[in-house]
This record gives sequence, structure tokens and C-alpha cells, in this order.
Amino acid sequence: MSAPTEAGGSIPPAEGGIEPHTLLIDRIGLLVTNDPAVGDGPLGLLRDAAVVIEGERIAWVGPAEQAPASDGRIDASGRCVMPGFVDSHTHLVFAGDRAEEFAARMRGEPYAAGGIRITVTATRAASDSLLTRNAARLAAEALAAGTTTLEVKSGYGLTVRDEERSLRVAATVAEETTFLGAHVVPPEYAGRADAYAELVAGPMLDACAPYARWADVFCEAGAFDADATRHILTAAAAKGLGTRVHANQLGPGPGVQLAVEVNAASADHCTYLSAHDFEALSGSSTVATLLPGAEFSTRSPYPDARRLLDAGVTVALASDCNPGSSYTTNLPFCIALAVREMGMTCEEAVWAATAGGAKALRRTDIGALTTGMRADLLVLDAPSYLHLAYRPGVPMISTIVRRGRTEGRRGGE
Ligand SMILES: [Zn+2]
Repeated sequence: MSAPTEAGGSIPPAEGGIEPHTLLIDRIGLLVTNDPAVGDGPLGLLRDAAVVIEGERIAWVGPAEQAPASDGRIDASGRCVMPGFVDSHTHLVFAGDRAEEFAARMRGEPYAAGGIRITVTATRAASDSLLTRNAARLAAEALAAGTTTLEVKSGYGLTVRDEERSLRVAATVAEETTFLGAHVVPPEYAGRADAYAELVAGPMLDACAPYARWADVFCEAGAFDADATRHILTAAAAKGLGTRVHANQLGPGPGVQLAVEVNAASADHCTYLSAHDFEALSGSSTVATLLPGAEFSTRSPYPDARRLLDAGVTVALASDCNPGSSYTTNLPFCIALAVREMGMTCEEAVWAATAGGAKALRRTDIGALTTGMRADLLVLDAPSYLHLAYRPGVPMISTIVRRGRTEGRRGGE
């Protein structure tokens, strides 16, 4: 890691490479705070602003000309600064890839069932170090695209041992880890889904709970039904884990209703919703997490984000990064899809990929740039956040600061 070196006056780190105690980011053309009390509109926009970071936290936000002196400086040169992305839904612990399956799907061949099981076989056969290297590579890729907080699920082990080690691996790359033993019923339990649900809610949960903050269930026809989902999530909550649900992705079903019933932090996918589902979500504290990378990669209809937002539902955007149905770590790409394909405004999509993700993880220390929040921020290589959707596929991040430390600069490290 090195200190900012941009022409325009950066102060080098102290001898020995110690990070500056306070860091000023000034000449910010447009600052997204995500706090309407601090600036204009729902994104709390400030123009000609500055931010001061002290240690891991934001110490000061305000007009550039009033910024206090600091030890170090990043010159934003009139560009946009915004909170780092919070990716609240990924599956980064696995081995192998399924590129051929994707290509066949795009050729129009029917989706072959059991894709998850192919990854399960590869994951079980992989060493801990291979799984860790793969997850670390993907986490680094996500960070380079601006993701400063990651949630990572298990779910390709599906034995007590393999789920536990998947969560140990997840914890090496992510601060938010989720036990997803109930991803699919593994082949050795074919025809015995109830017995597998008992294993998940019992010994597997016992082994995994120490390494997980959350438990998740794939509640869908062909995976886990309402009774099994309720049973597993109730057991997980009794162990102190928060809950989340893969809900209504492939068709209508009980997932969303169950998520609201157990006060899950989020119902994820929400592609096939009934009027009842919209109503349940709108009266709840359960976030609807939309994963447009999955619809893009499986050529499926997108969820009705507009109707969710209009119903007052809190919406998050996440990548769903996994080798089968959404092999992307790139939240700017998901923002572009949400705007172009799902009827979200640029402001709604940017909020959903930052503050929305934080709400989906029930975090109050990330997702906004105001005094006291964690200093996780991006300097865009653009004058506005609009460029995230307006210039799809173009790398748009010039500097990443995570926990107050500069993580990388384009063209640098
Ligand atoms: Zn998922």
C-alpha cells in the first residue's frame, strides 16, 4: 500500500509507511452522503465538498473551503465521491466454473437441472487452500470494482464438514458470513429432503454457527418448502443467527411471506411476487434484495423493482456472484441493469447498492458518508454517480478507501 501520489499535492506517509492519522479528501465535485439530512435529495448530495477521515472513521464532512487541516490528502479534482458498495449476497466459496453450461443456455439449450450439484462435487473435492485462493481472488475482484463490504455464503459443501470449512474460508474474505446448508438437497439425500433438513437444523447448524452471522434457506420448489425453511430459520435464530431467505426466484412461492414472518433481514431475488407478497414486504422491516445479474445470466424476467419501490419497500441490489447463475462481482454492472431493465432511477440504484445493502445486513456503520460512519468510499473517475449506469461496462473507480485506508488506485498498485 502506498499513500496517494496524485499530482496536485499529496502528502507522503510518515517514515516506515505508517498511514496518515487524518486524511483529507478535498476538491470533491459531487459527494454522495446517502443522508438526506446532510445534502440534497435522497442521496444527500453536496457539491464542492470535502471529507476528513480519522483512523477508520469519517471525522468531518462539509464544504471544501471549510475543511480542517489533515496529515494526508487526496485531491478528488472535481470528481464524484460516494460510499463503497455493500454487496449483501454472494456465493464466493466454491471450486470450478460452469462456463460451458452458460454457453449452452445462451445457445437455447434448456437449463439442465442439478447445476448446483456440479459445483458441490467440485467444492467437496477441493482443498481448503484452493477454496481460499478462489474466494480471495473473487473478493479482490469485487474490491477493485468498488465493493468495500461483502457478504459470503456457504452452500456448496452440504455436509457438516464441508459447510463448516466453507464458512471458515468465507470468514477469511468477508466480514458478513452466511450459513446456507439449505441450498439444495444433496444427491446422497435424494428422496429424503426431511432428513436433510433435520441435519441442517441440527448438527450442521451446530458446527457452522460459530463462523456465521446469518442463516439462509433456498425456499423454492425443488429446494426447500415452507415447513423446512421455517424449521431451519427458527433453529438458526435460536442460536443467535440473523436470517435471510432466497425467495421467489424461479416462481411464485412462500419464500417472501416466510421471510417477513420470521423478520428476516432480507428476502432475496423477489422475481415472482404476488400482490400479497408486495403487501407483506411493504409493512415489514425485511429488505427486498434484487439480484439482476441472475436474471441477466439466465435470460429470465427481471423483478418488478418499480412496484416494490412504489409500495415503500426497502430495496437492495447485490451481485449474487456464483459460478452457475450470476458469475459477476461487479455492482456497477448490476446498477446499470437495474436502471435499464428494472425501472429504477439512477439515484434509487446507487442507494440500493450502498445504503440498501447496509440495511439488508442490518448495519448502521456503513453505506453512508457522514460523521462517525466507517470510512469506506470511492472516488469515481467521473463527475457524477450517473456515470455508473450511463457508461455501462466501463471501469469507473479511480480510488478506493476501505476502513480509512487507500486500497488501490487505477494505474497504481
Ligand atoms: Zn444466491
